Amino acid sequence: MQNVRTFRCKDLGLACEFEEKAEDENELMKRIEGHVQTAHQMNPEQPEVQEKIRKAVR
Ligand SMILES: [Zn+2]
Repeated sequence: MQNVRTFRCKDLGLACEFEEKAEDENELMKRIEGHVQTAHQMNPEQPEVQEKIRKAVR
């Protein structure tokens, strides 16, 4: 029934243990964007960053 999406910072090639799970993809993206912005100084509004994150979500 559940369709949980998972994201791991490691999948971006970062040495980071951050992992996030959510059923709602938009909610998941929001949380990931908050993390990469504060922890990795990445700008989540950049299309390349968006694409990297989307590819890493499974
Ligand atoms: Zn991270």
